[in-house]
This record gives sequence, C-alpha cells and structure tokens, in this order.
Amino acid sequence: MMKENNESSDFCSRCGQQSIKFLVPTNDNRERKVCHHCHFIHYENPKVVVGAVTTYEDKFLLCKRAIEPQLGLWTYPAGFLENDESLEEGAKREAFEEAFAEIDISHLVGVYSLTRINQVHIIYAGTMRKPDYQVSVESSEVLLLDRVDIPWESLAFPVIKWALEAYITNVPGVVERKSSGGGLDEAWMR
Ligand SMILES: [Zn+2]
Repeated sequence: MMKENNESSDFCSRCGQQSIKFLVPTNDNRERKVCHHCHFIHYENPKVVVGAVTTYEDKFLLCKRAIEPQLGLWTYPAGFLENDESLEEGAKREAFEEAFAEIDISHLVGVYSLTRINQVHIIYAGTMRKPDYQVSVESSEVLLLDRVDIPWESLAFPVIKWALEAYITNVPGVVERKSSGGGLDEAWMR
C-alpha cells in the first residue's frame, strides 16, 4: 500500500474504483481508508495466526520453512486462520498441511499481540496421535526433536521462541506478549 498525499493507490474492494483516501470518518478517531467514489470505509484489523507446539511423547515436531519469509528456519506448525474455521480446526489443519501430522489439541500455550505487524497469535499444545509425519510444500524438512536439540538460534520468528518457552516452562494460563523491535524477523506473511 502506497501512501502519498493522503491518497492510496489501492482499488476499492466494493466499487472497484481507484479512489481511496486516508481520513478520519465522522464519529471515529482513527485514520481509515475511505473510498471517495462509493464512500465505503475499509476497516483494517489484526489477522489471526493459529498454531500448535506439537509433540509426540517428549519430542517436539519442528518444520523447516520451505517458503519465504524466513526460508530455512524452524517453526512449529502455524498459519493464518481461515474464515468459517475454529481455532482448534485451524491448528490441526496447519499441522497436517505443513507436516502431515494428525494432532489433538490439549491446552492453550499462549496468546501474543504482535502489534507492529498487526497479528494476534494463538498457540496451542498439540499432541501427535502417532509418530507419523512427512515433508510438504511448506516444509523442506520435518523432525521430531528432543528438547535439547531444539534449534533455538534458527527459529523463524521471536514468537516461536516465546511459545516453545511457555510450553516448556509450563507457565499457567494465558501469556500475553507485546512485540518489540519490528521488522521482517517478526513478520508472518503468506
Ligand atoms: Zn468504492
């Protein structure tokens, strides 16, 4: 999205005109993308990423990313929640898509507000029914690793580290963490 002189190069998703401007609508207190052709206000809100710290017995399932960003770095299965999908369904789907692992959700590990990239990550604990997994188009390598072998220096994003630590330390309840820093290393994009 380009922002120049209060105008955007985006097209209106409602009327199709290239007539988006940034302004504060009446009775609002934030700048929004407003279409000057059809007057539609394009509200933008954080996206939900769902995932699971996935284990089999005392081993951790980690996937080496085969796609950008952070190609070649490691993550538990996670991705964007789809419409018409529950959080638990999303976490299970991601485990299957990324590693062909069938998991059951046991508990919530953490909730993370990544305010700089406008994402909310909701991360569960997932247990594999059997030690079956495979590489996928999204993962060039999938491994079941002992805790001592977790590649802490090669994790794809800070939130991966936070959730793994929360799982390992068994911090009870919901963990909230506001992101700091910013930049690509915190981003999670398609
Ligand atoms: Zn419009």
